[in-house]
Amino acid sequence: MSKLYIVPTPIGNLGDITLRAIQVLKQVDVILAEDTRTTSVLLKHFNIDNKLASHHKFNEHKTAKNIVERIQAGITYALVSDAGTPAISDPGFLLIRTCVENNIEVECLPGPTAFIPALVNSGLPNDRFCFEGFLPQKKGRQKRLKQLADEPRTMIFYESPFRLIKTLLQFSEFFGCERQISVSRELTKIYEENVRGTISEVINYFNEKKVKGEIVIVVHGADNKK
Ligand code: SAM
Repeated sequence: MSKLYIVPTPIGNLGDITLRAIQVLKQVDVILAEDTRTTSVLLKHFNIDNKLASHHKFNEHKTAKNIVERIQAGITYALVSDAGTPAISDPGFLLIRTCVENNIEVECLPGPTAFIPALVNSGLPNDRFCFEGFLPQKKGRQKRLKQLADEPRTMIFYESPFRLIKTLLQFSEFFGCERQISVSRELTKIYEENVRGTISEVINYFNEKKVKGEIVIVVHGADNKK
């Protein structure tokens, strides 16, 4: 039966692709890619010669129904994003939901994603956690931070290097400067770095240098017993 495969791809180190990801990318009829140029480089590296089509946040609304009809007609698709697991702060959710609504089988392969290594490396409690992805940039940002101030679970945020200091300063304001955090930068890449400490210690560390690369911030939950 035809279906939609969700295929995670490396977040830096190409050695992190799984054998099954390669197999599925070779076998499906069409690979839906967030950016066909980025995915072409990956496919070339693994000698995968397959059909590519564009599927990104700007056309996702329009194409989901059409893809569903094609799957119903017997075509099997794999969805990939530029890096990591599709639908995790990446396009994919709308297509997956449309498939589910139409009783089409969706199979997500396990594989690379940035937030799991960041959480595990942090050394912060990981028995319960919440993934917050990117904070709203303007509207709703303060409200979200206020809501999260009393969140008892470890929180995970994606952030750009340009906004790291601004975000850490806001964390200090809403969560208190003594809260433990961990900033993971360039996971799986040559310059991978995990910086742990209180919010003010981590601000001091990053204030002294130009922040570059991709970043995940992990924040200890609130101790509401105090
Ligand atoms: N789908 C991806 C995943 O499964 O993690 C996330 C895509 S989102 C558009 C990109 C964000 O993920 C980056 O801004 C950064 O916060 C995080 N990220 C991706 N790769 C990373 C890496 N190698 N190291 C640290 N953070 C990374």
